Amino acid sequence: MPLVGNPIRIAVAGGNYGGLGAVKSLYLNLLATNPDYDGTKQAPPNPNINITLIDRRDGFVHYLGMTRGISNPEYGRQLWIPYADMPWLQHPSIAIKKNIISRITPKHIEFADSNEKMEFDYLVLAMGLSRNAPIGVSASTEHEYLDSIHRYHTLIQDAKSIAIVGGGAVGTEMAADLKSDYPEKDIVLIHSRKLPVQGPFMDEFRHEVVNVLHKLGVKTIFGERVIDESAVKEDFSLANSKHSAILPELIDSVKRKATLITSSGSKVQADLVFKCLGAKNKSPLIDLPSSNEHVLFSSHGIRVNSCMQVDDPKYQHIFAVGDISNLAVAKYAGAAVRSGGTAGENIAKLINSKGAPVDLSQMKSRGGKNKGDKGENKIGPGATAGSAGYSHMKLELGEHYCVIQSDDGVVPPEVASSMSSPDIKLSKVKRNLAVGRYLPLER
Ligand SMILES: Cc1cc2nc3c(=O)[nH]c(=O)nc-3n(C[C@H](O)[C@H](O)[C@H](O)COP(=O)(O)OP(=O)(O)OC[C@H]3O[C@@H](n4cnc5c(N)ncnc54)[C@H](O)[C@@H]3O)c2cc1C
Repeated sequence: MPLVGNPIRIAVAGGNYGGLGAVKSLYLNLLATNPDYDGTKQAPPNPNINITLIDRRDGFVHYLGMTRGISNPEYGRQLWIPYADMPWLQHPSIAIKKNIISRITPKHIEFADSNEKMEFDYLVLAMGLSRNAPIGVSASTEHEYLDSIHRYHTLIQDAKSIAIVGGGAVGTEMAADLKSDYPEKDIVLIHSRKLPVQGPFMDEFRHEVVNVLHKLGVKTIFGERVIDESAVKEDFSLANSKHSAILPELIDSVKRKATLITSSGSKVQADLVFKCLGAKNKSPLIDLPSSNEHVLFSSHGIRVNSCMQVDDPKYQHIFAVGDISNLAVAKYAGAAVRSGGTAGENIAKLINSKGAPVDLSQMKSRGGKNKGDKGENKIGPGATAGSAGYSHMKLELGEHYCVIQSDDGVVPPEVASSMSSPDIKLSKVKRNLAVGRYLPLER
């Protein structure tokens, strides 16, 4: 394909579920467009397209399995999938830039420890949310990641008692995974509310989560906050702490030899503590001044329209996908991938239309029985979390239990547990990270 003018520069900020979903869609819609492309080989070069995927890591991290991965290192080691293992990503029109993004403006991206300003014509924001390590994963290379899995495993093995602070979805899964893998250890889950897993879920669902935790032998302290603690901080991430103000995932939440005092005055002693508190949004990094009538940032993320464009006419060239967007109250990996796909498709449409009016694609809803938005309660501009209905949720509590809230209500326990997935969708994700049959990812 001959070069016609300057190549079009597309930046994708964040390379996990949403960002890779966007790059894959750009690949299919802008690069693999030759009629004989069949998904078994690299797409032909296209000097007119320049896609840069930016991430502080050198690979994809399968967060869905992270609590089990920390508890079970054999499984955990498989959760990092290097970008270098995705052959389609090695296309000459795709560059992978490993760096920490420190600021995003309407025209360029800035990086930590560098004066570079990377300009773009189109941008996909896919930087997700931040959680402290180990769940948020402080590692930036596969080597660091494997090291950290080994260290957490050693700490867990050495501890007789482990406290998990924070009973959201992540904290409950963490407590259940630890108790399933180490039934002989005392595992206590401390949560400030009366029931775990806040969010758009039914109380019946939450009660069933409590039943399963108790069945496993997890001790629960609910309706109490940790108001004081003394502990030895186990900070593996000190080398990175320079950038922890913009990336809370660089801060480790693990502590040893802890005495925790709860709001009722109870004293909890634990050899090891994991804090699984709420996720933080990335808006401090994003400097997009909004037009007067548009409020760009909501508590659920950057406001987007159904085409995944940032919801301000000034920013039709900027898309936000996955957890960083206000797509839904509850954040899901599948929605991140599909919203990335929609953004990629729409950027291709805008480029191919060369300025002529074009109908953009809307975010596709999940397939299934009722089609609809199954579980992904969209938040329209101006809506609040409370106005949305219940969301779909599947909590994997150890290898043998699962609690599910579906469109039809809470799935009966024995049916739900028969639906638990031992690899927590790892093989599905690996299949999805390939393009067509273009080389499997198994190593
Ligand atoms: C323990 C756990 C269990 C979960 N279980 C489920 C589940 O069962 N089902 C489900 O659907 N969802 C689950 N989720 C939620 C799911 O993981 C998210 O919805 C999904 O990760 C969102 O994808 P994303 O691409 O928007 O963001 P992320 O996956 O968070 O990706 C963001 C990317 O941006 C990069 N990045 C961020 N900031 C910067 C920066 N400043 N500079 C450079 N790079 C940056 C990060 O390194 C990362 O690669 C779970 C999450 C966790 C933590």
